[in-house]
Amino acid sequence: MGDDPASAVYVRNKERALEAAAMRSFDHRLPAATDQATLLALIGRLNHDPAVHGILVQLPLPRQIDTAAVLAAIAPDKDADGFHVTNAGLLAVGRPAVVPCTPLGCLMLLRHVLGPGLAGRQALVIGRSTIVGRPMAQLLLAADCTVTMAHSRTRDLAEACRHADILVAAVGRPELIRGAWIKPGAVVIDVGMNRLPPACGDSGGGRLVGDVNFAEARAVAGAITPVPGGVGPMTIACLLVNTLAAACRQTGQPVPADAMP
Ligand code: NAD
Repeated sequence: MGDDPASAVYVRNKERALEAAAMRSFDHRLPAATDQATLLALIGRLNHDPAVHGILVQLPLPRQIDTAAVLAAIAPDKDADGFHVTNAGLLAVGRPAVVPCTPLGCLMLLRHVLGPGLAGRQALVIGRSTIVGRPMAQLLLAADCTVTMAHSRTRDLAEACRHADILVAAVGRPELIRGAWIKPGAVVIDVGMNRLPPACGDSGGGRLVGDVNFAEARAVAGAITPVPGGVGPMTIACLLVNTLAAACRQTGQPVPADAMP
């Protein structure tokens, strides 16, 4: 809904990935001034459409729309983003849930470098948003990590970072986390996507950087995700994973094991 330029890029990338995976997508573009009832009616139709197994409402929504009400209107089984309160609640109590794509991708990256055994590791999640930080912490807890959550009111972020074997930054502040804060050998997942102002003489937007100072951190960390190219592509891959799993559940087929968190 609307014409947010960043959303346009994300939607295009998601559509390309769906096409590459031979998944059919239905694109509903609504003008920014559309009222909430029209949007809810569309979601209601898609909830009942047997050709549709996954629904995603691209955020942010225009100001007149109550985002929570819209997310709550999506049938939890078709909630490809995992933002419905039912799925958030299931994740929080450790039951099978549709998990938000970004933290699911982060967990897959962590398992890729650390193997299945995350138990007992000290994990720090910086940021407590419902789409990244909170579900990330729940997933790490479910994987038996000792989890600390930091946020804008955390008193000494550098000190919290020094103890982390696993550090996930989902803040939205360019290069906030410095190399000297990172425990040597730690695995660093940088979710942040921050556009710097254009450099002198540049046309268009500036450089895209994460929440971690990559040049400093890579010299200390055991492994680190780059920005762009790390968490972003995993997020899109996990959208496909969630959609495939939803289609399997709705059609009575077994969900592939690697689609589970
Ligand atoms: P948000 O604004 O909803 O949440 C940011 C969180 O950071 C808040 O919980 C806040 O308390 C915390 N915070 C703010 N300043 C802080 C500080 N100085 N110290 C510690 N914590 C601080 O953001 P979000 O939606 O969770 O996104 C976070 C970042 O991740 C953004 O840069 C966003 O663009 C990016 N993101 C990337 C992907 C991807 O696919 N790669 C997906 C989602 C979000």
